[in-house]
Amino acid sequence: MSLGYYLDPLGCAKNQVDAETMMGFLQEAGWVAVADPAEADLIIINSCGFIEKAKQESINTLLEYRQTYPDKKIVLAGCLAQGYAQELSAALPEADLIFGNRDLAKITQAAALALSSPEVSCRVLVPAAIPAPDTSPLGRRPLLSLPGSAYIKIAEGCDNHCTFCGIPRIRGPLQSRSLSQVVDECRELLDRGIKELCLIGQDLGSYGTDRTGGVSELPQLLKALSQVEGRFWVRMLYLHPDKFPLPILELIRQDPRLLPYFDLPFQHGASKILRAMNRQGTGESYLALIQHIRAMLPDATIRSTFLTGFPGETEKDFQGLLHFQGQAQLDWVGCFTYSREEHTPAYSMKPRIPRNIAAARQRLIETRQIPITEKRLDRLVGTTLEALVEEPVPGEEEPKRQVYQARLRRQAPEVDGLTFIQSDTLLVPGTFVWGRICTRHGFDLELRLED
Ligand code: SF4
Repeated sequence: MSLGYYLDPLGCAKNQVDAETMMGFLQEAGWVAVADPAEADLIIINSCGFIEKAKQESINTLLEYRQTYPDKKIVLAGCLAQGYAQELSAALPEADLIFGNRDLAKITQAAALALSSPEVSCRVLVPAAIPAPDTSPLGRRPLLSLPGSAYIKIAEGCDNHCTFCGIPRIRGPLQSRSLSQVVDECRELLDRGIKELCLIGQDLGSYGTDRTGGVSELPQLLKALSQVEGRFWVRMLYLHPDKFPLPILELIRQDPRLLPYFDLPFQHGASKILRAMNRQGTGESYLALIQHIRAMLPDATIRSTFLTGFPGETEKDFQGLLHFQGQAQLDWVGCFTYSREEHTPAYSMKPRIPRNIAAARQRLIETRQIPITEKRLDRLVGTTLEALVEEPVPGEEEPKRQVYQARLRRQAPEVDGLTFIQSDTLLVPGTFVWGRICTRHGFDLELRLED
């Protein structure tokens, strides 16, 4: 009789791939994924440990499962588990086992250990880091994304050491997967009908630099994917602006399947703050990068992230960020307030910015971004574009008509606006359609199918 597990995936896309990978290993070991935790022999929480808020959410999730299922075996996996294993095993008896994320194949061992664990104590299994094993079920793993799309993690860890970030401590130094392994995984996913390959890592631009002494291999990877036959999209997420490999621009110009979509977390526009964040660029150099990208690829979409309230951020620095935002005219922007994280260099930096000031600056950035994003979207009205159908919108069906949620090349999963399609013919989730953008509603668009 197969054992059943229920996995709750928290955190970012990189953590989602870890969750899918653990599900792949469990599946290959005969475990069955169940949709209802009440049916499970084991509950696995794939936690996030990036910032305080996410850490708290992961702990609350564990406590809720423990309260609801007092007799079930629970494994706390993921970044929080990896980063704080010893502290958690002492402080959180609600978990039967704390499982680190450096060798995901060991999830089967962790599951067996958890099932055999005595009531009272919380055990720890934090395997040492290993390069991604060739035997891993990566291309065959269950997928948690919406139909047609999959994340492909091309590297683990990070060597950039931004002063506000705990990732290098949790995920370790940069470890790039072999180019052939990544291409094989992409081919396996395409053979399964995937249409959008979202390449992810902490910093895609640094791909391969851990084995080339600093030269990015991202261009080679894109060149190799360009050799693969078929109709699909390749989307790149998280390119550190200081490590942007310029040769990718020409490759993208030559192959329309390589999306001119750039997620560049600039974080700030004031050089003083960028220095304090251990970032090499300036507001001027970042604007020059944006101009260069748009000159090479006029249809480029640029998303970014800003951080307000970093220690030492004066009103003048913040005005520098606002000026940068106005000049950059980015398509999509996410803005967060600085979160003071233990074990990071910024933790002891001063003066600290009061939360209400950081939040007020965040709100101003968000307010100012609305008309910018809307203006960028308005340029699309009347144009004919390709969309990836994701799913029918529940409650939006009429006798002969259904509304579908979809995304354009310029809309990344989960973070950007959406495109909606009314159709009186059945659309298949995970397939491409063409149509004319007829109107915009806030950050969303409406597409009318071509006859
Ligand atoms: S690039 Fe910077 S912010 Fe991103 S994971 Fe690496 S250290 Fe953290």
